[in-house]
Amino acid sequence: MAKHTIVLIPGDGIGPEVTAAARRVIDAAGAAAGVSFEWVTMPAGEAAIKTDGDTLPEKTLEAITQYKVGLKGPVGTPIGKGFRSVNVTLRKKLELYAAVRPVRSMPNVKTRYDNVDIVIFRENTEGLYTGIENEIAPGVVTSLKVATEKACDRIARAAFRYANRRNRKKVTVFHKANIMKLTDGLFLRCAKQVWEEEYPNIQYEELIIDNGCMQLVKDPTRFDVLLMENLYGDLVSDLCAGLVGGLGVVPGANIGDHAAVFEAVHGTAPDIAGKGWANPLACVMSGVMMLNHMADFLRDDACKTAADRIKNAYNTVLSEGIAVTRDLGGTAGTEEFTEALIKRVK
Ligand code: NAD
Repeated sequence: MAKHTIVLIPGDGIGPEVTAAARRVIDAAGAAAGVSFEWVTMPAGEAAIKTDGDTLPEKTLEAITQYKVGLKGPVGTPIGKGFRSVNVTLRKKLELYAAVRPVRSMPNVKTRYDNVDIVIFRENTEGLYTGIENEIAPGVVTSLKVATEKACDRIARAAFRYANRRNRKKVTVFHKANIMKLTDGLFLRCAKQVWEEEYPNIQYEELIIDNGCMQLVKDPTRFDVLLMENLYGDLVSDLCAGLVGGLGVVPGANIGDHAAVFEAVHGTAPDIAGKGWANPLACVMSGVMMLNHMADFLRDDACKTAADRIKNAYNTVLSEGIAVTRDLGGTAGTEEFTEALIKRVK
């Protein structure tokens, strides 16, 4: 039986609860599919300050570089205390340039919309998240928005490649190039060029982001793949999560050419941390994305089988209302939901 190594970063708040749940589900699915996993647990976030004196210890970066794949819980960054943001640093240092967030209507999760099936591609390494801020005069501060041709081109390429491989019909770029003519202008130019030169088979659309957001809440089913720069992608991801039942059901991946880290879109949820109420589904779904990614780059079909088993399991648990967590209107806790999944992946 093949054995693959995964770096596990429990993180803060509900992170240790949801990553532990996902690990158990993935192990059970792997055992049923004929593949096993070795988990290398590494610190990050506020928890790591206590153990290693840094929010993102070098050994954590080294482990992800070595093993190439990680499953991460959310982390908190102490605000205004001089610690670097773990997520921003991780994505920049490992060049995890594509944040991929599939947002889909889930069985039996009642929302205002049906049949939502959107995949967001967010540029993950620059824009306003470069953290270059200056006080240029007392009472006057600036934040620098950076766009490079290299980063705009590679995220556009990633979105179109994905759309093409998955038989998606359309890529829509959200932008504000009417105001930010140079930075968003470059983003648009790169996207359009990749489309024209390499993927004319896919429909291409450009929308000014304010209009795009209005269209999203009016009729999200008109969208397919969304492509945008860093800050817009951050905001639109949460907006889209709201269309399908909230942060508990939206997974995510941060993908680069040499490594990939998978994590739910939600944060540390300090209001429910330690209560056993957290919905681990988004983390489990991120694990499914991770297994599919491993199936591709390790060429191991058993990882794909394990991913399919988990997907079928959560679809069954949700459709039959077997264990519904509080965020989705039920009463089940993390443990009950996890057990329900494990029973069905075997
Ligand atoms: P949040 O996502 O932590 O919580 C927003 C709301 O959604 C809360 O009411 C929370 O209880 C609920 N929620 C989130 N995930 C849930 C789950 N799995 N199950 C049930 N309910 C869930 O957002 P926030 O409150 O804005 O942020 C809290 C902290 O998380 C901040 O320190 C922020 O910086 C951090 N954060 C980290 C990441 C990350 O590491 N990837 C992402 C976002 C926020």
